[in-house]
Amino acid sequence: MESQVNKLSQEQLNNIETISGKLTHSDTLSGRDPGYHPDNLKAGVMATPDSAEKLSQLLAYCNAQNIPVVPQGGLTGLVGGSVSKSGQLIISTARINKFIEIDPISNVATVDAGVTLEELQNAAAKFDLSPGIDLPSRGSATIGGMSATNAGGIEAFRMGTMRDRILGSIFVRADGSIVNDLAFVLKNNTGYALTDLIVGSEGTLGIITRLSIRLVPLRPVAATALFVFPTIEAVLKVAEHMRRYFGSSLRATEVLWREFAEAVAKQHGRQFSDTGLGEGQFLLLAETEVTSQGNDEERFLSCLEELFEAGLVEDAVIAQNNQQRDFFWLMREDSDVALRGFPHIHSFDISIPLVHLAEYAARIDHELRQLANNLSIFIFGHIGDGNLHVMIGSQEPFSYESVEEILYPGVQEQGGAISAEHGIGTEKKNGFKRFISPEKQAAMIAIKKALDPNNILNPNKIIDIS
Ligand SMILES: Cc1cc2nc3c(=O)[nH]c(=O)nc-3n(C[C@H](O)[C@H](O)[C@H](O)COP(=O)(O)OP(=O)(O)OC[C@H]3O[C@@H](n4cnc5c(N)ncnc54)[C@H](O)[C@@H]3O)c2cc1C
Repeated sequence: MESQVNKLSQEQLNNIETISGKLTHSDTLSGRDPGYHPDNLKAGVMATPDSAEKLSQLLAYCNAQNIPVVPQGGLTGLVGGSVSKSGQLIISTARINKFIEIDPISNVATVDAGVTLEELQNAAAKFDLSPGIDLPSRGSATIGGMSATNAGGIEAFRMGTMRDRILGSIFVRADGSIVNDLAFVLKNNTGYALTDLIVGSEGTLGIITRLSIRLVPLRPVAATALFVFPTIEAVLKVAEHMRRYFGSSLRATEVLWREFAEAVAKQHGRQFSDTGLGEGQFLLLAETEVTSQGNDEERFLSCLEELFEAGLVEDAVIAQNNQQRDFFWLMREDSDVALRGFPHIHSFDISIPLVHLAEYAARIDHELRQLANNLSIFIFGHIGDGNLHVMIGSQEPFSYESVEEILYPGVQEQGGAISAEHGIGTEKKNGFKRFISPEKQAAMIAIKKALDPNNILNPNKIIDIS
């Protein structure tokens, strides 16, 4: 095991502690869950400033001392963006989490970066509002981390990703200057869109301390159904039909390969057959919301009737109660069966324009199965916006590159993305280097050097700076 002894001097540690409050050291950190990457807490020392002002002083000090820092939120990131090592300082936003204000007139929430998505959802729900974004990791993922990764999730096909939900931010630059770019209006063309730049930059350009987020009316669920199909084309046709039929009241269209649903059900002591569904390799989980027109359950049934009559659906179940709905969602959301269930697991996250998705899915499915017979292949995702998650687990080590060779070629050329919503972090760096144009990489390096000339902010994430 790599040593966790950090290389910061005692004097530096004392100064950091004076600025930001008590530090957490490796004796405590080693007992903590490192989240979704074993090396997240490897630096062995963590500062938890409780305000933008303290963070500002801390960054100014680290910049002057050339101390690399790794921002961390809820540690649910899936690409190694929070990985730290000896000689670095972890800066957690866990204590920048006090402020949540809901403005029900402007429909805007203003929240500290360390607030979790679930806390924001609950605060907004008191005003019958919602942030319009939802992820299975809602209980731990922070608004700051979600902004830094430009998270997408279940509702992105109708509400957009974090970047579309955010109106403004406060962030601290590497030199400690606090940039207040908060705004509570949609229309705001006052110069460069700095918040848009910081969103998705994975902690490499600034540390976010507060955000203003657009809210939408919170609508109760009207109906939830699980469908099974023999082909991915059939899933796409039905999802498309439902998008046109329900418009913005369609809340979710999630796809699951059957093996994934079966594995999750088994993990929870259930059987996939408990759903009552028959044969078929591909599942669609669709959900609608109550609308002001009313009759929403009847409309859902009419839609289903149309789909059956058109021969587009042969087998579907509508959830009859909350327990059944929860079971459907459990099979979709509990990816821990893959993420934590294997000693070796590689997780990928691809976006493909819907027009190319059936062909792409059929190709990768076929080629992944040829790769090795000891691999467990789990595929699921947000079919409404063409985002597939591919998780490959094994008891034995296997080559990451061999999976990339199957998943990445052609994706960017078709207008898709080799990382849809998780970011690049450390794990997608090689793919980024190989598949993203040199001109884009050069422009990114120029921005990074301008905003963080000493390269102290989350160094060596996304791209290496020489
Ligand atoms: C079960 C599960 C389901 C998931 N489903 C989805 C999904 O549907 N859609 C999706 O998009 N993602 C999903 N994710 C991934 C993950 O939840 C998101 O990437 C989330 O946005 C990370 O938030 P976090 O607070 O945990 O950030 P962390 O993991 O702590 O950090 C992620 C990155 O952001 C940086 N960072 C953190 N906080 C800040 C800050 N305040 N300022 C600047 N940089 C910061 C870190 O340095 C790191 O690079 C899922 C993860 C799990 C485990």
